[in-house]
Formats: sequence, structure tokens, C-alpha cells
Amino acid sequence: MAKTTARRDLRDDANHGLVRYPKGVEHQYREAGYWTGHTLPAELLSAAAAHADRTALITADGTWTYHDLFTAAQQFAAGLLESTNLWPGDAVMFQMGNVAETVVSYLGCLLAGIRPVCTLPQHGVREISVLAQHVGARGLILQADFGRGQLPDHARTLKADGVIQDVVVARGSAAGLGVSYEALLAAGAETSADTLPYLTCDPREIVVFQLSGGTTGLPKIAPRLHEEYSYNSRAWADKLGWKPGTVVLYPLPIMHNAGVSLGLQPTLLSGATLVLAPSADITTLIDLIESTHPEVIPLVPPALAIRLLEHPRSKSADLSSVKDFIIGGQKLAEEVTVRLRDELGIEVRQKFGMAEGMFLMTPAHASEEVRHHTVGEPLSPADEIRILNPGEDTEVAPGEVGELCVRGPYTIRGYYRAEQHNVHAFTADGFYRTGDLARRHTFDGSTYYSIDGRIKDVINRGVEKIHADEVEELIMRHPDVSNAALVAMPDKVLGEKACAYLVLEPGATPPTVQSLGDFLLSQGLAKYKLPERVEVLPALPLSNVGKISKKSLREDIEGKLGQESGTPG
Ligand code: AMP
Repeated sequence: MAKTTARRDLRDDANHGLVRYPKGVEHQYREAGYWTGHTLPAELLSAAAAHADRTALITADGTWTYHDLFTAAQQFAAGLLESTNLWPGDAVMFQMGNVAETVVSYLGCLLAGIRPVCTLPQHGVREISVLAQHVGARGLILQADFGRGQLPDHARTLKADGVIQDVVVARGSAAGLGVSYEALLAAGAETSADTLPYLTCDPREIVVFQLSGGTTGLPKIAPRLHEEYSYNSRAWADKLGWKPGTVVLYPLPIMHNAGVSLGLQPTLLSGATLVLAPSADITTLIDLIESTHPEVIPLVPPALAIRLLEHPRSKSADLSSVKDFIIGGQKLAEEVTVRLRDELGIEVRQKFGMAEGMFLMTPAHASEEVRHHTVGEPLSPADEIRILNPGEDTEVAPGEVGELCVRGPYTIRGYYRAEQHNVHAFTADGFYRTGDLARRHTFDGSTYYSIDGRIKDVINRGVEKIHADEVEELIMRHPDVSNAALVAMPDKVLGEKACAYLVLEPGATPPTVQSLGDFLLSQGLAKYKLPERVEVLPALPLSNVGKISKKSLREDIEGKLGQESGTPG
């Protein structure tokens, strides 16, 4: 059977564990022109054909035209099918940083009908293993020179454990591990796009898997579908007015929902140019702004904005090309917004969004009140928002804080293979309960939203999410620990960091931040999730319903930090 025409189901279950949009709703989205009936790779290829000679991508290693980028992606697609056991319909894990090979591999997978799972290069072996098994992914694409060069060793373990079968190695030797990126391109050199399997994809199918939750318990994976995912990116580019010639600078990890849906895809779908920063190092960013003159930075976490403000070159650097400086991923303090305006002449726009879909953004000509105090309005006219009493289906009173619940043409209707969880995570009529607290505001007759906290047990560390239950479960494996709770502690730059409250086994010596961190790394946890402070208690405080009171623990750590810095908590 030819791999170009045959497909393989990810799982035995007929609908891939996918919760679909109701048929009538799909029809409405198509009638309204939000969904096109085309697949994401088909839309990307037609943009590539329309803009062949324009610059598509600039990385630390060079510049790519649309023609060159998509030629490489086609070669990658054909080579991947030719040289591995992967079939159209399969999923592959990614552990790649901000390099051109990542973009080529991502596009190549789409053209091969293979579904990228947007895992991070920072993920440990256990995390990749859990997620790969949940999705049914047997392939892994890795960047050998990422970080300390640890990823090939991780891949060896994953292969030895039987989790991963096929490994593609970019930027390093593939000897004894799998096939090299260069070998794939060479193997696919003669293939033309009209024989690639993307042509047989159904636009209603899953195109990409994005991550949401942690990796203990049931993984929460957002299955993004061709039509809604390309609409997400088109709507973003349209709202921001991107066109051929627009230069977009992306400073965060590209293989993440925001990177893909707000950086890579909208740039390519609109014929614009993506400048991929190798890291979020602030000196590199200032250099890139001065050398490439971007009009847009689609996602600046508040932590990065603060680093920019504190950088010695920020006031002398020429940042004037940047018209849309979009801050998001975390609550933005008004003080930072005011300093950006007064010290650097930057009028921010805010953005709120998530791997599950829904984005809100400050409209272009919003008043300062809207700009500073809200995250704006939804991206699509078809987005629907309800502010509900948490866990219920009733709306809060006008102007009150409640749980932000969302539905629309690019918000998922269910997590992948998580039937039972979906019953609670979505309302009966398909609104996603975000776990964020929000409030509706009216300014000049228009409606905007602010984010006023969260109910989900997540720590937002400079936009990297740490799911408390995942880390707690691993801490509990430590022989000296009898109980543990992880809470957010405030941090001036990152917004939040993780603090572990521990109850020890009788007579045990308290672990230090270092020794606990070493233990958690040995359990395969990503480094960014490690607790940055350890507190030992004789017992964890309980709420009046007998659950661990994280509220008391958060107040405790805020008080301690306040005392240590000489300010009241
Ligand atoms: P992710 O799926 O990793 O993009 O994380 C989405 C979550 O990040 C949201 O549900 C919020 O909890 C948080 N988040 C994103 N943007 C903002 C923002 N502008 N303000 C506050 N929290 C945010």
C-alpha cells in the first residue's frame, strides 16, 4: 500500500477520541466564511505559491524565501514517509528549539499528513513518554544541539523503553539513533507537492496536538483541527492587518500553541516575514529589532517587558519600527504598561489566550483605559463568552467576577481521549470552562474583558505553566516526604514561581531546593517546573471542607516574602 494514498488511524477508536463540533455548527462556520473547507497545509501551500520570492523566514542561520522553505518542507515530508515507519495519520513528538529545521519539520509533517505533537525540548523523558503514549505517537523529531545536547540520550531511553520507534535527528549525528534531517531532505528531493498525502486529509480531522495540562493523571491534549486552526491564525493576522512585507518577530518557543497559531502560521498565511529569535535573551532581541525592523511582536510576556525596561540599552535602542507590542500570557501590572509608555514610548496591546483556542486582544484604537485594564475583546465575531458561577451553568451578575467560559470557531469541544474529564471541563452546550476568572466591562458602549485570577491549580511562571498536581505527585515519591503542596509565590519578574510546602517523614532531614530539584529531575520532570523555594511544616493547613488550603499557603509565602523584603505581605 502506498503511503501517499493510505492512512493509518492513530488509535483503534473510530473517531480518534475526538469530540467534534456539532454538524450544524460546522455548517454555520463554513457559511460565514470562517472555515474554508480546505486543510491547513493546502492553505499554507497556496500562500507559498502566491509569495514564492518573498522572504518567509529569518533565523540565526539565514534567510528563506517561501519557495525555498516549502521546497525543503516537501522534501522533508516525502523523506519522512520514505525513510521511517511513519504513515499519514500518525503523530510525532517534537523536541526542537527556534531554528529553521523546526519550521521545515513542522510544515513537512503537515504535508505528509503526519500530526505534530507540540511538546517542548525542555520536557523530560517521563513527560514525553506519557504524552506519546496518550496520543499514540511513535515518532520523535529532535534537535541534537539543543541545551546541553541531552536530547539524543533521552531519545535513546525512549527507544529502549519501546515508546518511540522512529527518531529524526536535526543538527547532530543520528548514528545508532535514527535518521538525520539532511538524509530525509535528500531522500525526498525528487518529490512534487501533488503526490503528498496532505491531499487526502479531511479538513475536519486533527492536524496538530497542543498541550494543556501536566503529565500525571490524565494528560490534557488539545486536538486542533485543520479548518479551525487555520481560521485561528488567519483571524489573528487579519485583526492585526498583516500583509506581504509585514515583519513579525517571535521571541518565545515556536513549538507551542502561541508560537504556531500567533507566530508561524499567520505569518505564512499572510505572505509576511517571520523573524525567529533563537531565545528570549533581551540583548539578542534588541539587536534583532534594530536589524530586522519588525512591525509586530505578537507575544511579549510581562517578564520580558520588565527585562527590556531594565536593560541598559532599552532607551538608546531604536525600537520605533514596532507598532504592535503585544503583551500576554500573564497578568500585566499597570505599572509596567505605564513605564513602557513613559520610558520607551510603547503603547501596549494585551492578549489573552490558550492552547484550547480562544484569544482576546486589545483592539487597535482602544482607549488607554481599555488598553491598560482589560485584555480586550475576542478575536472572532463568532466567539461566545459566558462568565459563569464556577462549576455551574448560571451567569454571574453583570460586572461580577466569574469563570470565563468560551465557545467559538477555533475553540476545541473536548480534550483528546478524555471523555470523563470533558464532562466537567465543558458545559453541556460546548463552552470550555477555562479555569480563569474574568469580568465583563463596558467602555463607550463596547464590551471588554479583564482577567481577575484563576481557579485552576496552575502556577504561571513567566507564561510557562506548572500544573501543581503533577509536581506534587512526583515530590511524594521522595522517601523523606509524607505530604506536599505546590503553590505560586509572587515574583517581580516572572510573575509567579513555585514554592513547595512539605511535611516530612519522622526524623527525616529537610530536602533543600537543590536536592529536591535533583530528585525531581531524576523523575523526568522538566527543569522549569522545579520548586524554587522549599518550606517545611508539621502539617498542611486544611480548609473547612477538609482539603489542603492552598489559599492559606499562598498567604503564608506572600507574608514571608514581604517580611524578608521589608514590605508587608
Ligand atoms: P497556555 O494554554 O499555555 O497558552 O495557557 C493559557 C493560560 O494562560 C490561560 O488559561 C490563563 O490562565 C493564562 N493566561 C494567558 N494569557 C493571560 C493574560 N493575558 N492574563 C492572565 N493570564 C493569562
